[in-house]
Amino acid sequence: WELIQKFEKHLKQKKIKIEIDSVRKIKKIGQDFLVLTASRKQFQAKAVIVSSGADPRPLEVPGEKEFIGKGISYCVACDGPLFADKKVAVVGGGDAGFEAAISLSSFAKKIYILETGSQIKADDENQERAKKTGKIETITQIALKKIEGKDFVESVVYQDKSSKELKILKVQGVFVEIGSQPATSFVKGLVEFNEKDEIKVNPFTGETSTAGLFAAGDADDVPYKQIVIACGEGAKAALAVANYLGKL
Ligand SMILES: Cc1cc2nc3c(=O)[nH]c(=O)nc-3n(C[C@H](O)[C@H](O)[C@H](O)COP(=O)(O)OP(=O)(O)OC[C@H]3O[C@@H](n4cnc5c(N)ncnc54)[C@H](O)[C@@H]3O)c2cc1C
Repeated sequence: WELIQKFEKHLKQKKIKIEIDSVRKIKKIGQDFLVLTASRKQFQAKAVIVSSGADPRPLEVPGEKEFIGKGISYCVACDGPLFADKKVAVVGGGDAGFEAAISLSSFAKKIYILETGSQIKADDENQERAKKTGKIETITQIALKKIEGKDFVESVVYQDKSSKELKILKVQGVFVEIGSQPATSFVKGLVEFNEKDEIKVNPFTGETSTAGLFAAGDADDVPYKQIVIACGEGAKAALAVANYLGKL
């Protein structure tokens, strides 16, 4: 947060204007781009860098939206400590789910990892670390049906896919770890995506399939989503934009 404030101050010193708004669509008009926002503003530019990141993929079951901030969380690092001595479920049995459960084991008294497949996808090392906590139980072949509670989450209801039986798990928290969705819908049709809706880029420059449109960070198809990688890609894209503009 402190670092972001420093970045903001730096931009202001350089007289670069910051607009707090949500981009809804980017269109190409001749050689330029038109950026349309939720508050109906329009910005015209010769080049654009898309660095909109990715959002956690939602569960899309009844109760999810109602209990966001009331037991449903998408961020163990942010909300884990709120579940001290509580029972929680982590939805997703991949490495992210296991790492979330291992982090939660410092706080929660019991953690259930709920996985829809019949096999655990997390690597052996994560499975071993989870076992060592003595608090983590994995349940496979589940189809999550709903999240229930009064004011806060009290239970999750799932179907055991092998027996077809409906089961209720009493938990006070649900952490969602089923992957992320790149926030790229506003450039759909304008650039090429991969099968995960990530923008395809030249990893050396951030160039996309559309001249003048660049992408960086979690929104693009470069592997390993980390802060340092996103920052490096942003720097590369900025230099590539300068190069692009110089040639127009
Ligand atoms: C829970 C969690 C923990 C993590 N921990 C680590 C860690 O310890 N170390 C590490 O290196 N990485 C970590 N990561 C990954 C890291 O956060 C990302 O790789 C990095 O933030 C990507 O940077 P970005 O700029 O591409 O996207 P983001 O940081 O996601 O920034 C994208 C920004 O664009 C905005 N935006 C989205 N859509 C629009 C739109 N339509 N209009 C306008 N603005 C929009 C978003 O609101 C956001 O502010 C973690 C990620 C998560 C989810």
